[in-house]
Amino acid sequence: MPNYQAPVCNICGGTNFSAGFKGRLAHGVKPMCDGCNSMERHRILYELYSAVSSQLSDCRALQFAPDASVKREWFAEYVGSVYGSANSYNMMDTGLDEGRFEFVISNHVLEHVPDDIQAIKEMVRVSGPDGIVSLTIPTPTMRWETVDWGWADPDINYHYRDYGADFPQLIANAIPGLQIVSASGRDPVTGIHDIVYFISSGEARLKNMAAKWAKVPVPLARHVS
Ligand SMILES: [Zn+2]
Repeated sequence: MPNYQAPVCNICGGTNFSAGFKGRLAHGVKPMCDGCNSMERHRILYELYSAVSSQLSDCRALQFAPDASVKREWFAEYVGSVYGSANSYNMMDTGLDEGRFEFVISNHVLEHVPDDIQAIKEMVRVSGPDGIVSLTIPTPTMRWETVDWGWADPDINYHYRDYGADFPQLIANAIPGLQIVSASGRDPVTGIHDIVYFISSGEARLKNMAAKWAKVPVPLARHVS
């Protein structure tokens, strides 16, 4: 008998999964959890966040496009920005005070924003001098370089660009004074890997989180601009 264990969702403990959008499979495996509707990236994020959750309890969190990757109770305060609702912030110009939220989360939103560098500057400003911006974007592990065509293409879900492996370099070139950590996570259900970017204008909080990730271990790469 092969030593086979059915995959378990690390978010809800569910063991039943369905195909993704338009019947999509990942490595031949159904990626969507029937219990919590999580996809690969949500479980990867959940794994990375839960490893450092003890460091999040003093953070006020702002999440653009709330999803299953985050537990509200990890944070001192949690606010979700829902596009098109009354509770929506413009990522390029939030109108929020500097340092209003110590932890700003954006998963698969940046590709929909006309000026992504301005959006990152704004999120870093809102996260304050030692806060953290947590980002995921589509396809940085699958493309050599970012291609930005400057308009929202309806054929690919209104994306302005395809991101490539040069993403941290693009940020570092455009914005001085940042600490950028690329953390590699693996989805326990499909085996898919993805990169989560953590950006801060300070070093202390990221350094403490890196010490926690080293115990999992989570492979990290670090850029300083
Ligand atoms: Zn689940």
